[in-house]
Amino acid sequence: MPFICENVECRAVLARGQVRSNHEESGWCFYCPDCKIRNELKDIGLPGGPVELVQPERSDLPHKVIATARPLEDGRYAAQLRVQRALGMKGTYAVEEYWEQLGVFPDAQEAVAHAKSIAADMLERKA
Ligand SMILES: [Zn+2]
Repeated sequence: MPFICENVECRAVLARGQVRSNHEESGWCFYCPDCKIRNELKDIGLPGGPVELVQPERSDLPHKVIATARPLEDGRYAAQLRVQRALGMKGTYAVEEYWEQLGVFPDAQEAVAHAKSIAADMLERKA
């Protein structure tokens, strides 16, 4: 089961080999290689046995939002959005929703901002 970065802006799905677990005073954790955020880990191994690390369960399912701007022929940009939702059980991304064109904007940054704001609305509503 991969680890998932808890930073909402990041939500990287990380294979166990990709992260290095650290034992700190406050317990186990790993630092996301993408965004450097600290993610908490829990040792569920038997006392005296090998350490077995899992991510603590969260009630809110992780999701990853990818907002992009696609250049159009007329020099404007189409806002595109992709949302990957995790399944509750396994922590892997199984459901992906994709919007090709949410609107057309004169510059790329506006298009991305628009796609992100739609994602924020949508995820809030479903939460
Ligand atoms: Zn991250």
